[in-house]
Amino acid sequence: MSAIALYARETAGFDERVANALAVLRQAAEAHPGRVVQATSLGAEDMVITDLIARHRLPIAIGTLQTGQLHAETVALIPAIESRYGVGVEVYEPVNEAVVTFVRKNGERAMYDSIELRKNCCGIRKLEPLSRMLKERDAWVTGMRREQSNDRGTVAFSELDDKGRTKFNPLANWSWADVWQYIQLHDVPYNALHDQFFPSIGCAPCTRAIAVGEDFRSGRWWWEAEGAKECGLHVHGAEDQA
Ligand code: SF4
Repeated sequence: MSAIALYARETAGFDERVANALAVLRQAAEAHPGRVVQATSLGAEDMVITDLIARHRLPIAIGTLQTGQLHAETVALIPAIESRYGVGVEVYEPVNEAVVTFVRKNGERAMYDSIELRKNCCGIRKLEPLSRMLKERDAWVTGMRREQSNDRGTVAFSELDDKGRTKFNPLANWSWADVWQYIQLHDVPYNALHDQFFPSIGCAPCTRAIAVGEDFRSGRWWWEAEGAKECGLHVHGAEDQA
């Protein structure tokens, strides 16, 4: 069964939540002209945001992290966005030498050996490229929602990150049903893995399908304790933590 058939549902207040998300994006574009980027993971939430940006021709750049460990289905969304919306996607990759050195020293499966090594891998493949994406920017847009996990229960529509940049979270109050309702209404391209019970998609070695009833993010870093489960992108002090 497709993710749309499983999850899309119109609930009270949907139109208002869409209007509010658009207002947050407009505010981001107006307050930070030429200096704001959507950091998209190419997940369902981020595809909704890209659609809103493109549909309303908002001057917000779109950037993504190609960690070198993404599923083919995820990578395929980059040209899909470009052809559907006629916008360019900035792709940030890790420094090859850093990856080679890390893998040579710790192996291809180091992320399973310890939280420290997993965070080091995220540091090289995600945080350093993210810092390049954000270097000339003073604001960014993410697809974080309060519902995604306990850690994210207090996500605000805008907040300051640890470097003093404004982080906009236009879908902070959206439900998973809202995300899929929007995707259905606007025929938004989405990751084929969502149709295979992957609600939250990251790098291939660190993402798995979930079973009915399992927590939303239980498919990410499933071998770790709940409290450790962020890649560092959205943790305070993130860019120093790896
Ligand atoms: S999510 Fe996994 S593979 Fe991707 S950067 Fe982090 S540890 Fe490495």
